[in-house]
Order: sequence, then C-alpha cells, then structure tokens
Amino acid sequence: MLNIEDMYLEMGIRREVYDFGSQIEGTLKERFDAIDKVAEYNQLKVVHAMQKCKVNAGCFKYASGYGYDDPGRDTLEEVYAEIFHTESALVRPQITCGTHALALALAANLRPGDELLSPVGKPYDTLEEVIGIRPSNGSLAEYGISYRQVDLLEGGAFDYDNIKKAINEKTKLVTIQRSKGYQTRPSFSVSQIGELIAFVKSIKPDVICMVDNCYGEFVETIEPSDVGADMVVGSLIKNPGGGLAPIGGYIAGRKDLIDNCGYRLTSPGLGKEVGASLGVMQSFFQGLFLAPTVTAGALKGAIFAANVYEKLGYSVIPNGTESRHDIIQAVELGTPEGVIAFCKGIQAAAPVDSYVTPEPWPMPGYDSDVIMAAGAFVQGSSIELSADGPIKEPYAVYFQGGLTWQHAKLGILMSLEYLVREGLVTKL
Ligand SMILES: *Cc1c(COP(=O)(O)O)cnc(C)c1O
Repeated sequence: MLNIEDMYLEMGIRREVYDFGSQIEGTLKERFDAIDKVAEYNQLKVVHAMQKCKVNAGCFKYASGYGYDDPGRDTLEEVYAEIFHTESALVRPQITCGTHALALALAANLRPGDELLSPVGKPYDTLEEVIGIRPSNGSLAEYGISYRQVDLLEGGAFDYDNIKKAINEKTKLVTIQRSKGYQTRPSFSVSQIGELIAFVKSIKPDVICMVDNCYGEFVETIEPSDVGADMVVGSLIKNPGGGLAPIGGYIAGRKDLIDNCGYRLTSPGLGKEVGASLGVMQSFFQGLFLAPTVTAGALKGAIFAANVYEKLGYSVIPNGTESRHDIIQAVELGTPEGVIAFCKGIQAAAPVDSYVTPEPWPMPGYDSDVIMAAGAFVQGSSIELSADGPIKEPYAVYFQGGLTWQHAKLGILMSLEYLVREGLVTKL
C-alpha cells in the first residue's frame, strides 16, 4: 500500500511534524478549491489567447542576428497583449529582470522635467536606485525627472487627500506596486488598484498609470490592465514564466507607451522590430501555459505556511485567513536562529543544491546580513521554492514559490522540522 508518511519519514520529516502539517492541511480544503477555480479560469484564458493568436510550431524556431521578422517573438507578444487585454506588449529575453522591465517602462515614458509619483509609499528596494531616491549612476533623477511619494495610511489604506495634493502639472506617470514585496504593508487587490487609478485619472486624466505586477500575475482572474492600468510590468522568472523561462521581463499596455519601451530597449528608429529571441521561445510559451497552475501551487504553499506558523503562535503576513493578492508569505520568527533554521529547511527540501547550507552574508544593497535559501533550476528564480530573510528586527523570513503545491508542502514541513531540530519549536 502507498504510504506517503513513510516517504516523508525517509526524507527526514519526523512523524509529529507530518501529523501537525496534515491536520492544518485538512482545514484548507475550501481555500484550495477556490484557488483551483481561479487557476482553471486562467488556464482557459491562456489557452484561448494562444489559439486566437495561432501559436504554431514555427514559433519555437531559433532566431538569431537582428531578429527582423521573428515570428515566435511577435506571436508571444500578441499572446501577452491578449491575456492582459492590452493593445500591445513587449516580452523579451533582452529584458534581464523585473527591475530592468520597470526601469525600462519608466525611462521610456518620462522626459526631463516630468515627475513620477508613487501613491502607495516606498517602491521596491531596487527601484530606489532606478528613480534616484538613493543616488545612483544613470538614475531618472540624473536625467531631471523628479519623484514624489505619498505614504499609505496606518493600516494600508490609500491617502486620497495627500495623493490629490501631490498630483501637479508635472506629474506624468504614477507607479503602483501591487505586491508588498519585502515590506509589511498589505498587498493590493486588483479592484483596489482600479479604485486608485480611477481616482488619479479623475484628477488628471492624461497621467500614465503603471502597475508593478511582480508576483501578482494569475493570482486573480483579472489583472490591473483590466481596471485601467496603462502599463503592467513584471518578471518572467516569477509567475508568468511558469518556472520554465530562463530569463526575461514583460511590459503590456497602450500601444504608444509600449512602442516607447521598444525604442528605449533597442534604439530609436528600431524599436520592437529587432531583438532575436535566441531559442528561448518554447520556454516562454510553455512557461506561460503552465503559469496559472504553477501560481496556484505557490499560493497554496503560502496559505499552508501562514496557517502552520500562525498555529504555532508566530505573527504571519498575510494571516492564515486573509484573501491573497500575491504569492509572498512573511513569517516573523523573532530570532536570528529562527530565520536561519527556516531557511536551512527550505534549502534541504530543494531538488537542486539540497546538500548545501545557506548562511547569512552582507549582500550588496542591504543594510544587514541576509540569508537566502534557493535550490532552483533557474538561478535566482523566485517562482521556485525560496526563502530569504534579513538578519534584523523583526527577524522575518519571506517565503515564496514552489513549482508544485506538493513541493511547497515539503519545503514548509522541512522548515518546521529544522525549527524543531534546533529546539526553537518544542510543542506541536
Ligand atoms: C521581484 C520584484 C521586483 C524586481 O524584480 P527583479 O527581477 O528581482 O529585478 C520589483 N518589484 C516587485 C514587487 C518585486 O517583487
């Protein structure tokens, strides 16, 4: 007879941890069913788009050189535009990561004298240097583009009064980050983003609204471009790459804005016409095809982690019952030892590099040591099971990904196993 429990035991998970996890999992059936329904809807959305755009075997052919008439690339961009319900899209291996995609969208559509506004508080860490909040070579600030920010109110609500005051004749583009990233504010639902965009446009109709969509794709059945966003931007080594894309970023949106992105990515005059896809197209298409179910697996993992650690008395964001708007789960372990043990467990559950031991190190760009656990097929991919935590108060670990729910579950059980082994959790 099939005995899953023995298999967990063989992999180093003790019976008490397995039983505790099973008990938690048993309470999550309804939520998992709801996630599967969203995945089902999004799976249809993706397949429908691929059919409509006549994806064919020719799309997977290797294109080299300038890449004029690269049918795979052009068809993929049509598919993205179809999924996001936008006029156009730019989806390229030459966009190296999410930060690059965001920097590109901003630099392509802002000009000297323009102002950028973030009405949702501080943007993602790496954007501080893009914008010039932290002085940096090549920042938007160096090109005479100013920046303004309106923080969220206590509890995470939009500060409409101050947003209204911050919008002025220079305001050209508003950037809205959907996911909390590595902050403790809540992530926004697509409908909340829609309300914010409507408010901004009621004050200044021609302002460009851009959404940093990282970690949010396919979590809901609609995307920010369905509620008024002029551009949505993200990374292919997160949700929409489905774990298969080895590199890349996307920007979907209004045609004139996306054309500008093309001119900035390659060169004025050339734009989207060039940029050979170098054999990655099959992984981009196939990854996109898998993305709805991969995202669903990661979401189940996040919810499972929240409930396991909440039950053990830790503070978790989002909490065990809240609705989800991205795939990131924060767990406040409260001690450096807790963060380290958690990450060791995640590493030990990986299919790749499971035998290495992650350690905190002074990573460039961070003001404390950081520990990262990842044993991924694509280096640095955070749609794959991964966790990281800065070694500073409140000693929180950020957990995300898992290409399958089953693997995410193993990772979370292993993190708990390590906390038990280190004597940090004594009662299950
Ligand atoms: C990951 C992320 C980014 C940056 O993407 P990279 O691929 O790491 O450069 C930007 N914004 C948010 C919200 C993210 O989660």
